[in-house]
Amino acid sequence: MSAAMVDLRDVHKSFGSLEVLRGVDLQVAPGEVTVVIGPSGSGKSTLLRTVNHLEKVNSGSVSVDGELVGYRRIGDRLHELPEREILRQRTKIGFVFQNFNLFPHLTVRQNVTEAPLAAQRRPRAEVEELAARLLERVGLAGKAGAYPRQLSGGQQQRVAIARALALEPKVILFDEPTSALDPELVGEVLDVVKDLARSGTTMIVVTHEIGFAREVADTVVFMDEGRIVERGSPSQVLDAPRHERTRLFLSKVL
Ligand code: ADP
Ligand code: MG
Repeated sequence: MSAAMVDLRDVHKSFGSLEVLRGVDLQVAPGEVTVVIGPSGSGKSTLLRTVNHLEKVNSGSVSVDGELVGYRRIGDRLHELPEREILRQRTKIGFVFQNFNLFPHLTVRQNVTEAPLAAQRRPRAEVEELAARLLERVGLAGKAGAYPRQLSGGQQQRVAIARALALEPKVILFDEPTSALDPELVGEVLDVVKDLARSGTTMIVVTHEIGFAREVADTVVFMDEGRIVERGSPSQVLDAPRHERTRLFLSKVL
């Protein structure tokens, strides 16, 4: 057993003949903020998606909160868990997507209350109160009755963050949460993510926002071609990278 909240061991993932993850090891401690950077196509999204079993790994293992994700070990064999068990595991893992992925036909409030009501079967009064608190926290208390199309991209992404928090997950995964936003809306979303980071939420954030990484990451991971090339503190990886590939990447994004 490891004390890590997220624990990936020698994870390999291929799509057909294309090997996208080539033996990834990643441990994230409780309360730790890990920022993943790397070129387009290096496997960052696939890595996040293996954490909640949106992608099945070909070999290696993924554990969250001490529990193997997607499988049960019987003897020396792994058996995939039934769908409802996978859904239960996913309630421990929040996911915030690049394109918000809100339910367009539900109001802001309903987007936040849907999963706790349906997946966790929590009492409505409690869930409504939680939603009100979370919308306040992301600065959208006044928008509870609006529909996603009536909101800016920055507001929609803040709803998506409130929705992820509503499940009271053990870890939240962010996949380029600001890259679909107009530049003037990036700050309001990063401020919410920073607030979560400072409050001790365990998270993995894929982003090209190097300033954000410098400010909030405990650990920065640089990925290239399906491998973690380098990891360390923000100052080590961003200011004194040991690998030429990291240097080259940073020279393009900074
Ligand atoms: P990143 O997020 O770092 O840009 P991705 O994890 O999205 O990288 O993709 C890594 C590689 O895997 C890319 O070459 C991409 O085209 C490929 N890929 C991702 N998802 C699929 C899929 N479902 N089927 C086939 N190829 C995929
Ligand atoms: Mg991606």
